[in-house]
Amino acid sequence: MKRVLLLLPTTGYRNKDFLAAAKKLGVEIVAAADYCHRLAPSWGLAPIMALHFDRPQQAADTVVREIGGRLDAVLAVDDPGVELAALLAERLGLPGNPADAVRRVRDKLAFRRLLQERKFLCPGFHHLPSGADLRELVPELKFPVVVKARRLSGSRGVIRADDSAALVRAVNWVRAIQSRADRDAQELGLVIEDFIPGREYALEGSLQRGELTTLALFDKPDPLDGPTFEETIYVTPSRLPEAIQDSIHEEVSRACRVAGLAIGPVHAEVRVNDHGVWILEIAARSIGGLCGRVLTHCLGMSLEEMILRQVVAEPLAVARQDGAAGVMMIPIPRRGIYHGLEGLAAAQSVAGVTGVSITAEPGQIVAPPPDGASYLGFIFSRAESPAQAENALRTAHRRLRFDIRPEYPVMAAPAARA
Ligand code: ADP
Repeated sequence: MKRVLLLLPTTGYRNKDFLAAAKKLGVEIVAAADYCHRLAPSWGLAPIMALHFDRPQQAADTVVREIGGRLDAVLAVDDPGVELAALLAERLGLPGNPADAVRRVRDKLAFRRLLQERKFLCPGFHHLPSGADLRELVPELKFPVVVKARRLSGSRGVIRADDSAALVRAVNWVRAIQSRADRDAQELGLVIEDFIPGREYALEGSLQRGELTTLALFDKPDPLDGPTFEETIYVTPSRLPEAIQDSIHEEVSRACRVAGLAIGPVHAEVRVNDHGVWILEIAARSIGGLCGRVLTHCLGMSLEEMILRQVVAEPLAVARQDGAAGVMMIPIPRRGIYHGLEGLAAAQSVAGVTGVSITAEPGQIVAPPPDGASYLGFIFSRAESPAQAENALRTAHRRLRFDIRPEYPVMAAPAARA
């Protein structure tokens, strides 16, 4: 029986999907988590150890010492674990990407430098070190710009600024977000880059011996113009002309090659305008949240099963089916404490809607980007055409009513005593 080490993130939307896939394939899973394993929520699998994913060298030493010789593969469920997974694969001689390559694409500054060097379409960008005086940089900027934390995901710590006053606010805000979310914030500083106008698309792919297979190209029909960039609807197949779809595949494929990624899942975000295809980012992981479920119909298996099959070297037989599919990452209307929702049954009954999964837990603080990094939930649809799949999501969403209350009730000032 093959044995796979699964690296579980704190907010593990897909831990269960990986476990179900492992059961189906007869793969033994051992898990490590980046939080205290004794307090771990139960997914029917107790993590055997806690590791600091953001200290990959130390974490790799621990794994090699404790269980190294008995593993056939290492797999990160999500972004925080990908660097550790790559490092472990390297040290144990298992299939995986070079750790350097994974580190480079996770760092938004290093990735921009690579794109520029290798003559990709690339926005002008600047590094703003932590102690630097922003005023010195302002004359070099072409507004609007986008201020970014170096290695967060899910649009966390990404804000557009249209002038220097907005820039000061954005920089302060992103600095605060990064310093809470990344232990290395001080050394990293921020990235400030030109805003690229255009429509956005996401490519979900799989690399095998350096060859990219596009599993799905998603349209993002809602414009993402900022100042914050909350993801909402993804619909596949794309309605773009074939030639542009091919260019997206080519550019992402070339970016993976120059970055040194050769195996496993790839998620890329691109913008398209009159100049061509701009790669915003490539990540050596699969699509986030529960969105991967939208692909089950076209893969003929869950995305997690496909990824697991690949690492344990099972032959892949990907069946493509007709029709369109969509997913909505349910936007968080405002920051607050999530109490519950109404209209679930009505949303689920919309023609074309195949599921509504609410992932927020009552009592949880929810916040939209740039602060938040989680979702209220996901709506899934399938239909004959992309337009119908998109409409089903919008109709279902309109039927949901979320109860989100302020974190601290506003108290009336006590009446002054006579
Ligand atoms: P993350 O890893 O958090 O997804 P990205 O760098 O992909 O960070 O940025 C998140 C979103 O912000 C993108 O999907 C896009 O909508 C928007 N964005 C980022 N950079 C730019 C840019 N230079 N121009 C226009 N929009 C951008």
